[in-house]
Amino acid sequence: MIEHLTIIGVGLIGSSLALALKQQGFVKRVTGCGRTEASLQKGVELGVLDDYSLAVSEAVAGADVVVLAVPLGAMHSTMRQMAAGLDANTVVTDVGSAKASVVEDARATLGEHMTNFVPGHPIAGTERSGVEAGFATLYQDRKTILTPEADTNPQAIDVVTQMWQATGADVETMSVEHHDHVLAATSHLPHMLAFSLVSHLSKMSDQDEIFGYAAGGFRDFTRIAASDPVMWRDICLANGDALLSLIEGYKLELDHVSQAIRDNNPDALYELFRDAKHTREQLRNL
Ligand code: NAP
Repeated sequence: MIEHLTIIGVGLIGSSLALALKQQGFVKRVTGCGRTEASLQKGVELGVLDDYSLAVSEAVAGADVVVLAVPLGAMHSTMRQMAAGLDANTVVTDVGSAKASVVEDARATLGEHMTNFVPGHPIAGTERSGVEAGFATLYQDRKTILTPEADTNPQAIDVVTQMWQATGADVETMSVEHHDHVLAATSHLPHMLAFSLVSHLSKMSDQDEIFGYAAGGFRDFTRIAASDPVMWRDICLANGDALLSLIEGYKLELDHVSQAIRDNNPDALYELFRDAKHTREQLRNL
């Protein structure tokens, strides 16, 4: 059980974690921290937080565990502000969607506290943001990936593992590089495709009519294009190399479809669709 948990960035991910841990009786006190007092006050009203502070160094004082749940672009400055306020034994973790940039930020700011930092990423979310979007079952039966470094304190890894397990998540460990490669393919690329499809269609002169006839396929494919633009800007910049090579590969795939249509080649189209359908049908747990 965690006596005192501090969550910096009490949005969808941070508030869902607090709610899940409270529901399981795994945490006694949750302190929130963010830039906007109104949303922290809302967090108290919703039972997500017990108290809050607008000052990072004050919010982390005396905490057993600190969870960084701010956008990736805000990690470095948040870590810098909290470093001086951390107790020697405080375990620090984060939920950022890309890991190499977070580890780099931590190495640059946390000093000796780096060994108590356990990089993490819950593979769960929705397109909604803010404290009111949180719900206690978000992590139930989902994966959380931890990417500890060779010098990460094993006790800190245990604490973070048990915290996520208490939310109902299945915890896995892998290297930072592997995480960023896999997540670029399964999460970051699909978001880029959804954002760019909606952007493309919205620039067409008859966009009102096009969106007027949009049905299930369009809705399923583009739901995630309603996600927070700041968060996705930061993910693109943080995981740019992995994402760029996947975008190039995807462009070749689209070229292949274009060529098959241009060549009036039914076999090429059929084979591509048949193979993709087969692969998609194997993914039964999605
Ligand atoms: P969110 O709902 O927008 O919450 C982000 C929180 O961070 C807000 O409470 C905001 O509060 C605070 N914040 C924003 N900008 C800040 C800044 N510059 N400095 C300090 N605080 C700031 O976002 P989220 O979906 O919870 O995402 C949070 C983190 O989780 C991100 O790193 C994201 O990569 C990761 N993640 C997201 C998902 C997902 O599907 N959404 C899934 C897994 C991981 P104030 O405005 O009051 O400061």
